[in-house]
Amino acid sequence: MRLVEPWIKVEKFDGVKIMKKIERACRTCYRSEGNITEDSYKKLLNNCITRGHESVLEHEKITVRIYCDIGFYKDVTRHRFASFSIESTRYCSYNKDKYGNEIAFINPSAYIKDKEIYDTWVECMEEIEKKYMKLKELGATTDMCRLVLPHSTAAEVTMTANIREWKHILELRCSNKAHPSIRQILIPLLKLFQKEMPEIFANVEYDREFPEKDYAKLTIEEEL
Ligand SMILES: Cc1cc2nc3c(=O)[nH]c(=O)nc-3n(C[C@H](O)[C@H](O)[C@H](O)COP(=O)(O)OP(=O)(O)OC[C@H]3O[C@@H](n4cnc5c(N)ncnc54)[C@H](O)[C@@H]3O)c2cc1C
Repeated sequence: MRLVEPWIKVEKFDGVKIMKKIERACRTCYRSEGNITEDSYKKLLNNCITRGHESVLEHEKITVRIYCDIGFYKDVTRHRFASFSIESTRYCSYNKDKYGNEIAFINPSAYIKDKEIYDTWVECMEEIEKKYMKLKELGATTDMCRLVLPHSTAAEVTMTANIREWKHILELRCSNKAHPSIRQILIPLLKLFQKEMPEIFANVEYDREFPEKDYAKLTIEEEL
């Protein structure tokens, strides 16, 4: 069994370019393309968002790759306007060399601070892994074995959403009402978006109590 930390890789993007492209699309509505200046997108986007004219944000998208647990993707895939490609528990057999003959579980130490609870969780994962491998030895198919995999099982996910849907997802999933395994990964993403596209994301609130030291590692990649 392997305990692993979650991470998020973000496909390199240029926030200003994205906002300018949205501005250009939006100005079709008013045929005001002639009013475009170096920074006219700032006022325009601010007006659109204040008035709820948010469909213009759908013209641009961003893709990320996430290492998370099943609980994360169970919740996040409820968002209907995002696209997902997810490591399959039906096709990935964790008894194979490719996976190190073991199951990887996302370490919940960011939000399970009590030692006894944490140790009990570890014991439980060890037992589950043992039974998964035993099922394989008995000839169970991967389809059968996946029935014993818990929410903590690690999985890679590629996720794409347009800017409007990202804003919506981050509004819901960075709040302290969302599961900590989701906040841990999406708060750093929100903070990146706030830095690169403040006109769109600056007012999205997040759980400021979630300790920064527990954020998932975020990197920006040329290719995911
Ligand atoms: C804290 C929290 C707790 C939750 N608990 C539960 C739970 O216990 N059980 C459970 O089943 N789910 C739960 N959910 C999931 C939640 O109900 C939504 O399914 C999920 O957050 C997806 O968000 P969304 O509906 O806004 O959809 P998205 O798919 O992200 O859609 C974006 C927006 O498009 C519009 N839209 C999309 N589809 C339609 C439609 N068919 N009709 C009208 N408008 C539409 C809505 O305005 C929607 O907000 C929870 C979510 C959160 C954040």
